[in-house]
Amino acid sequence: MGASYGMDVTINGVEIEDVGFTWDLTPKRLRRGEPRPAVKSPVDGWAVEVPKLLAMVDAIESTGGDFDTLREVLLGTITELLPNGCCPTCEEYASVHQDALAAYEEAAAQMAARAATMTDETHPFVVTRSAAIHLWKCPAAPREELIHPGATLKEFIHGKVVDGRRDPFQRPPWEYEPTNGVRRMTGDELAEWIRSVRGPKGGDNYRRCNRCQPALPVAYTSAASDAYLKD
Ligand SMILES: [Zn+2]
Ligand SMILES: [Zn+2]
Repeated sequence: MGASYGMDVTINGVEIEDVGFTWDLTPKRLRRGEPRPAVKSPVDGWAVEVPKLLAMVDAIESTGGDFDTLREVLLGTITELLPNGCCPTCEEYASVHQDALAAYEEAAAQMAARAATMTDETHPFVVTRSAAIHLWKCPAAPREELIHPGATLKEFIHGKVVDGRRDPFQRPPWEYEPTNGVRRMTGDELAEWIRSVRGPKGGDNYRRCNRCQPALPVAYTSAASDAYLKD
């Protein structure tokens, strides 16, 4: 993911217009779950247009300036481009991070409110992200979990360092979802969910755990989709 900017800079009163600053720090296509490249300093990945850089050197020479001026201008321009202090990818997704934090807070409040009303009798079923149905008491049934997007924008985009490895997320930040997609349900909710995923010809687009063999609240048409589920 790259980015280009045309910036006007001033060296000792000499104005140089539309200097090309480009940024690219994606060495290769990332596979799912692979850590995104870390940005160690805000100058990582930046290049400056050479003819304009030479014009800056000329401006220093003709005005009797020194290289500190050039350093300040280059670093100052990059700082101006990165109000969040990391990289252009972070800048691009700053508002997505804010939305993700809000979605997390909302999901946490909803989960807490729902948990307070649930019992083994009222909510006996669990549906996973991959459309497997379990009984809540099944040892193989996963639990509803919240996934925090990262407290800072930098964590959100580049992942936290956990045990020396980056990236706790299985999806890119822009596909962030506040939960692991597992949902505990009442019988009525499960019946509604099964109707929503059932194919147009009545095929079952879900699997029923073969370990807990939940008795479903609707007619079950395909015992062939029973599967022993490890997760
Ligand atoms: Zn960044
Ligand atoms: Zn099960």
